[in-house]
Amino acid sequence: MKQDQDTIKQHNKKMILDIIRTQRPISRSDISRITKMSPTSISRIVGELCEDGYIQETNTSSSGVGRKAVILDVNPVSVYSIGVEIDKNFIKIGLMDFCSNVVKSEKVGYFESDYDPVVTANMVCKLIEKIVDDIRIDREKIISIGVSVPGVIDSENGIVVFSSQLAWRNIEFASMIEKRVLIPTVVENDLKVMALAEYFYGSAKDSKWTAMINFGSGVGSVLVKNGEIFQGGSNRAGEIGHTTIDPFGILCECGRRGCLQTYTADWALIQEAQKVAKINGIQDILTSSKRQELWAQNIIQRATIYMGITISNILCMYNPDTVILCGSLFDNHPELFPLVEEHLTKIIWEPYEHTFRLCLSELKGVSRVLGSAIMALNKSFQIQ
Ligand SMILES: [Zn+2]
Repeated sequence: MKQDQDTIKQHNKKMILDIIRTQRPISRSDISRITKMSPTSISRIVGELCEDGYIQETNTSSSGVGRKAVILDVNPVSVYSIGVEIDKNFIKIGLMDFCSNVVKSEKVGYFESDYDPVVTANMVCKLIEKIVDDIRIDREKIISIGVSVPGVIDSENGIVVFSSQLAWRNIEFASMIEKRVLIPTVVENDLKVMALAEYFYGSAKDSKWTAMINFGSGVGSVLVKNGEIFQGGSNRAGEIGHTTIDPFGILCECGRRGCLQTYTADWALIQEAQKVAKINGIQDILTSSKRQELWAQNIIQRATIYMGITISNILCMYNPDTVILCGSLFDNHPELFPLVEEHLTKIIWEPYEHTFRLCLSELKGVSRVLGSAIMALNKSFQIQ
């Protein structure tokens, strides 16, 4: 009985800290309204959290005259989380405070010769130790580490199931980090953590149902509902890059033909262009297209039509209120955006017109480190 009461108390405390953390700054009465708990209970728990140092009271003027309302905010230096981004070309890590500010970050080059999981884990751990030493905070304040990896991830068990970019299969990467640095570690797919960052601090701030679609060296999507990532049965939802467009189409890296990414990924466009012209990258295709060169116009038109179709299909399937386009193709060449928008306007089915907002990612490059740290922090607040 005593144990049950303690569990409930801990549960409530965690829940209220989580509400303050995600809806900060907030008043006691608003917490009471959200939790439907009595003002007395709220005051008691808030008092405990203040005493523990997690939160603090701040005075701010109420909208009315004179009287100042006391509101609550988290104490930025009470808890930290680390975000790690493993990219094909670099590893970046950032230390995030309790107010979600990345207070320190480090980045090192990452080459194919480093792709071995043990070598990678060594690099990540070294960077973590460096940041902890540099910033000189109490190590116990770092409560979680989040690592984002391109690929299919079993986040529950911390396993990189499959990453074609790193050539990893079934790597228990979370435990490799955790055992070394002794801080709870979680691993997640890179696009999923990016979507999380957009939800909290970017283009999806006011969205309830967000679809984020990535077009770059790979093609993928994520659905976020009220800040929760839609994972599917085994965290594999959203791999639209390998949906079949034409069963007799171009050969994909997955061994099958005509996957969506063979029409929309950067390498596919470059491959297509190299059949007729000497080009070095996407920019060359866009420049030639602006010069009215037919081959380039064709490539850009086909790619943006398929992107428009992809969005239209996702609208029909999930009815999101916000669709965010991200990935290197849009980050580096935003002029593609109006072209996709134009095609989408032509093909969209009437009931979906004016039901959503189409936009570009706001956070771009920073979102993986930030999203990984947010994801890790969220996990440590998850109530079992
Ligand atoms: Zn494929």
